Amino acid sequence: TYVIAQPCVDLLDKACIEECPVDCIYEGKRMLYIHPDECVDCGACEPVCPVEAIYYEDDLPDQWSSFYKANVEFFDDI
Ligand code: SF4
Repeated sequence: TYVIAQPCVDLLDKACIEECPVDCIYEGKRMLYIHPDECVDCGACEPVCPVEAIYYEDDLPDQWSSFYKANVEFFDDI
């Protein structure tokens, strides 16, 4: 799955939402989240993010590794 990280917080540009072919990017209060089971790993969202907040899970920078869990847990709560 792809994961949205820190740069999205309080920005929510939403350019990625338009690109996602399976509509698996959802809006939270402070950032957007990718549904880990719905994402088809197409990569379309990554280049359109103006702040490079989106990463393939294995490429997530170390300082933002907690965002993998944050994305998963967002969907546990709804
Ligand atoms: Fe959607 Fe593709 Fe991005 Fe996954 S990688 S969130 S399917 S645009």
